[in-house]
Amino acid sequence: MISISSQCHHFGFILNFCRIHCFNFECDQTCINRFSESYICGPYMAGHPEISFDNTANAFRHKSNAELKKAALLFKSFNFPILLKVGPALAKVAVFLGFKGLIKNTIFAQFCGGETIEESSVAIQLLTHSHVGTILDYSVEGEETETVFKETCAEIIKTIHTAAGKPNIPFSVFKTTGIIRFALLEKVSNGIALNADETKEWAGSRQRFESICKAAFDKDVRLFVDAEESWIQNAIDQLAEEMMAKYNTHKAIVFNTIQMYRHDRLAYLQNILQSTTTFLGFKIVRGAYMEKERERAAQMGYQSPIQPDKASCDRDYDAAVDLCLQNIQRVAICAGTHNEASSMLLANKMAENNIQSNDERIWFSQLLGMSDHISFNLAHAGYNVAKYVPYGPVLAVIPYLTRRARENSSVAGQVGRELRLIQQEMLRRKSKSV
Ligand SMILES: Cc1cc2nc3c(=O)[nH]c(=O)nc-3n(C[C@H](O)[C@H](O)[C@H](O)COP(=O)(O)OP(=O)(O)OC[C@H]3O[C@@H](n4cnc5c(N)ncnc54)[C@H](O)[C@@H]3O)c2cc1C
Repeated sequence: MISISSQCHHFGFILNFCRIHCFNFECDQTCINRFSESYICGPYMAGHPEISFDNTANAFRHKSNAELKKAALLFKSFNFPILLKVGPALAKVAVFLGFKGLIKNTIFAQFCGGETIEESSVAIQLLTHSHVGTILDYSVEGEETETVFKETCAEIIKTIHTAAGKPNIPFSVFKTTGIIRFALLEKVSNGIALNADETKEWAGSRQRFESICKAAFDKDVRLFVDAEESWIQNAIDQLAEEMMAKYNTHKAIVFNTIQMYRHDRLAYLQNILQSTTTFLGFKIVRGAYMEKERERAAQMGYQSPIQPDKASCDRDYDAAVDLCLQNIQRVAICAGTHNEASSMLLANKMAENNIQSNDERIWFSQLLGMSDHISFNLAHAGYNVAKYVPYGPVLAVIPYLTRRARENSSVAGQVGRELRLIQQEMLRRKSKSV
């Protein structure tokens, strides 16, 4: 466990290490002092300062020149379709042949904190230094056995214990499919009667779900339940709603996730707001399974749950955020998005509604290694920001890394946003040093 004072100590060590190695971190002792003040006395800026997502100096202050170069190379490599196709298999072979270090120093280093919580501490400290919180995300995707489910459940509870009492790790998170069998969630979602074995299995599964939420309540750590495929989401919603009713007694501890790419989610949100009186927590996202949802609906001949177009998804995203703000007395929200306009809109709405930028009920969140220009500029302006920091054994997080690589591949030959921003910062540093 890392205490605040030992964090400062570790952080001093990281900075000294960086100075010795002549990295261009553009920071000094005042940053450490400000970090300590920030997390002991609250964020260092409140009110509503100007935000600029163009400020790449803020966005990449935590990256050395060498790291920026490496990141640029990595994002460039995502533009080779052949690499995207064979990359995941190659990565697995490389690990088996003993070249794990190759993966670990490249794509893994960009998007993951480490193989364990302990290994992720350097990433946590670097984020902390820029007033960005960490959400430890155990990203192992693997077998569906009771043993694996139990191990995953224990690891998620470990992330909660790690976060306890640490303002720089403001949330924990988990995916229900990490602890409950997919086919069982599907049956429950569809209201299909369970046989005796399944009934027993469901009882054990619910118990795991509850043990995670109870640990979050006992340790006073906010907890996200990630949203997944629509055909298992009813069961996840039911569990999350039950846990919110039980554990959100004096504030939002359990947060359910709402995917606004679904055309029925705004109504779902309105309904839950009307039908409950407890504290509620929502992570508002657009949704990660669009192609899969559409393909399944087409194959099985039912109406796709996905909005007809992106504009409808954006409209409902904004409306959902608005609805939460209107009910802010008992609703806490996290905008889980890499969309600049959505992030800016929420910041503006907070100002309109006279909500302080550091209000504990409102958070912005992005993934590690992506959209640093949003995370670090918002945090610099005093907003609450936390990044998912995925971790797990290299081999087990390859599916996660593959999704990040695909997401960042070029659209019709265009330079992706991440690469463009990195190049912009490299140019800025170069022009400064001439
Ligand atoms: C911190 C964080 C947590 C997340 N948690 C979850 C989670 O629990 N569950 C989950 O499913 N996803 C989750 N996501 C992923 C998220 O849902 C999006 O896939 C991703 O963030 C891209 O959307 P965006 O808002 O960042 O930006 P944008 O680039 O503006 O939006 C892209 C998204 O818009 C939607 N979209 C695109 N085209 C269309 C169209 N034609 N019609 C309808 N919709 C369209 C899709 O959802 C697509 O992913 C999370 C993301 C973050 C940053």
